[in-house]
Amino acid sequence: MNQQNIPEIFGSMVFDDRVMRSRLSAKVYDCLKKTIDENAKLDEEVAQAVAIQMRDWAIENGATHFTHWFQPLTGVTAEKHDSFISPSPDGGVIMDFSGKELIKGEPDASSFPSGGLRATFEARGYTAWDPTSYAFIKDHTLCIPTAFCSYSGDALDKKTPLLRSMQALDIQARRILKLFGKDVKYVRTSVGPEQEYFLVDEKMFQERPDLIFTGRTLFGAMPPKGQELDDHYFGVIKPRVTAFMEDLDKELWKLGILAKTEHNEVAPAQHELAPIYSTTNVATDNNQLTMEIMQKVARKHGMVCLLHEKPFAGVNGSGKHNNWSMATDTGSNLLSPGDTPQDNAQFLLFLCAVIQAVDDYQDLLRLSVATAGNDHRLGANEAPPAIISVFLGDELSDILDAIKDDVPYKGTKKVTMKLGVDTLPRFSRDTTDRNRTSPFAFTGNKFEFRSLGSSNSIACCNIMLNSAVAESLKQYADRLEKAEDFDGELHDLIREVIQDHQRILFNGNGYGDEWVEEATKVRGLSNLKTTADAMPHLLDKKNMDMLMSHKVFTETELHSRLEIMLENYCKTVNIEGSTMVYMVRKNYLPAIENYLYSLANTTSIMKSVSNKVKCNYEISTMERLSELTDYILDRVQDLEEALEKLKGYDDIIKTSEAIRDDVLPKMEHLRKHVDEAEMLTSEECWPVPSYGKLLFSVY
Ligand code: ADP
Ligand code: MG
Repeated sequence: MNQQNIPEIFGSMVFDDRVMRSRLSAKVYDCLKKTIDENAKLDEEVAQAVAIQMRDWAIENGATHFTHWFQPLTGVTAEKHDSFISPSPDGGVIMDFSGKELIKGEPDASSFPSGGLRATFEARGYTAWDPTSYAFIKDHTLCIPTAFCSYSGDALDKKTPLLRSMQALDIQARRILKLFGKDVKYVRTSVGPEQEYFLVDEKMFQERPDLIFTGRTLFGAMPPKGQELDDHYFGVIKPRVTAFMEDLDKELWKLGILAKTEHNEVAPAQHELAPIYSTTNVATDNNQLTMEIMQKVARKHGMVCLLHEKPFAGVNGSGKHNNWSMATDTGSNLLSPGDTPQDNAQFLLFLCAVIQAVDDYQDLLRLSVATAGNDHRLGANEAPPAIISVFLGDELSDILDAIKDDVPYKGTKKVTMKLGVDTLPRFSRDTTDRNRTSPFAFTGNKFEFRSLGSSNSIACCNIMLNSAVAESLKQYADRLEKAEDFDGELHDLIREVIQDHQRILFNGNGYGDEWVEEATKVRGLSNLKTTADAMPHLLDKKNMDMLMSHKVFTETELHSRLEIMLENYCKTVNIEGSTMVYMVRKNYLPAIENYLYSLANTTSIMKSVSNKVKCNYEISTMERLSELTDYILDRVQDLEEALEKLKGYDDIIKTSEAIRDDVLPKMEHLRKHVDEAEMLTSEECWPVPSYGKLLFSVY
């Protein structure tokens, strides 16, 4: 790639503002812009005009098909391609695409999860264009980002509630800003998601049924070397990986994705990509695309990109950091401390809104990142614990303490803190001592939510975060709008929030056992360790009330989501358990038997040649391996029984509890014996590539 070309290729496959401005008439452009910026309704004439230009642009750029691109609750994206062709009277075809086709699509929705929302006889759902996220071309197909709903209007996707939550926050944040004398067009949240992933050699991947069926290794003895030397983090990137990253950047740039930072991560074969942040719904679409393109590009380079949260036991798994902030249409970041007393007070109020939101809705944030895969990370000393808390850093904490206790702040300069009157002392935005063990950290002008799993859609946590912050802001606006002495009321409000939500603030080590003790016993924070523990809280009254009052979800949608999320958890673990059974019976037991056979043969031949040989190695190995095969058989039968039992439950909550309490422990148990057998068996006889090979072979 020629470096000078980058600005040219950037966004070349996107129907972005530049293209719209140059192709659409001024009138059409203005109407569309109003829809994008202010949610104004789009009339059909405008849609028709946009469709024609979109089609022509797409065809000029090599597209033959179009698709409504959406994000059903499977967690991945979906698309159904239609070609542009339409028969013409002369027997040929013309390339056709109408405003109607742009605005609305009708995919058969019956095979997407709906959690009982849509009976199969009412299979149709519809997709509706989201003009706030640009259309783009991928694989000769014009992709139109859309929301996906049932015919009764219930959301069947992740985008619809995300857009609703952004709107809820916009409404409440503007109420607050008005009180500070600011009339803004909109407030939007922005996100920069840092994405972790593993790369493994494709040939080895193909030899592991567990990687093929589940995306993670279900067995594997630890290699002599793991990540203990810390030599991989930010290490020199290997040539094959460099070539992959260059190619990946190029593909992402074409799609207008601001891929910015790429580096090696802590575990061997682990890497990270961070884009420059953008509006939340665009960031969500882009992150889905990034995950898809990563996997495609890796294959081109003879590798497989693993997005699973825990592909290998014993080394770090992969997460995603959701860097989140709120800004106005003029780009003013509401989480940036300002220069005047009023701006400082405004900053503190928005800061308080986040602190209160995280405290009041810890469970929603926790469950928004709960999946079978992520359960392996949270609380496992490589990722923040399942307990949600907020890190503010020492200086900002001291400032809040001064406000709470009504005493002067003793920073570099002694200042009193009458909010709205006194100037907030400057505190450093030094991010070097950031606390990596905190799940929710303030990092200067944004919050970083670090509990996400690498394969999670970022929509889920942002729906909860936006809604919860909207709720705090609503409570503040209700109170402040009635106040006669605004500054006085504001001061009291901020003080009260800081006092009432002390328990969620924690600057210490989130990985320590003492923290679990203190958080749960002293502070009363929730510690929802698994998906089965966390997910049912979606239907807690306080959570339902909040989400419904801001019109983010309807009651039926919430019930259906719980059903789908738990179903996904159960199915995932079920597939893992079945894959273990499959591998043990088809691969491992026969392989160990082969090895035993050769040991036994060797022993009897050796003994027949000389009566002096003891065959200690052969015999002791044989004895232990034979013992292990008996254990393995017992354990695999246990697991088979546990999996069979699942079929008897008709309640998804009961099933998920059985998965947690019965199936997962049995899987662990089985693995232990197989991994021991791996260490005793020759490499040659072992039927799948070892951890050592998987983790260290890409160069
Ligand atoms: P880290 O030091 O945690 O690895 P970086 O400093 O590289 O992270 O940035 C992390 C992400 O935060 C990037 O995607 C960046 O664009 C994003 N980011 C920066 N400022 C903001 C902001 N105001 N709002 C949201 N995201 C932001
Ligand atoms: Mg980070």
